[in-house]
Amino acid sequence: MNYWLYHPNFRKRRAEVLAQTNNRCKRCGIKNRSFAINSEGEVYIVYLHVCHVFAGEKYLEDAELIPLCPTHHFYFDHPRGDTPEGRADWAFIGEVHREILVRQLVQTSDQQEKSA
Ligand SMILES: [Zn+2]
Repeated sequence: MNYWLYHPNFRKRRAEVLAQTNNRCKRCGIKNRSFAINSEGEVYIVYLHVCHVFAGEKYLEDAELIPLCPTHHFYFDHPRGDTPEGRADWAFIGEVHREILVRQLVQTSDQQEKSA
């Protein structure tokens, strides 16, 4: 991983994001360090990623981060095409962006009320 692109606080924020979200993938809910079985029938351990919602924000101190399993991180960055799975990828991406916009609108209106 090219951590040199990331803000120096990334590892600290990764731990905070995982703690705040109960160490679960935001999309499927699998817990960090769960055992899983791959298509070859082999057991492996799922290590959650903390995904930058906006790829261009990796160097920002307060970049938007969400916890995702490796599979859902891949589909967040590379949503599939016009299939039921692809539409689910896009719906999830839209929901994440909507949550961020709503939170930012609430923060903005709170700040405006305080300064009024
Ligand atoms: Zn997942």
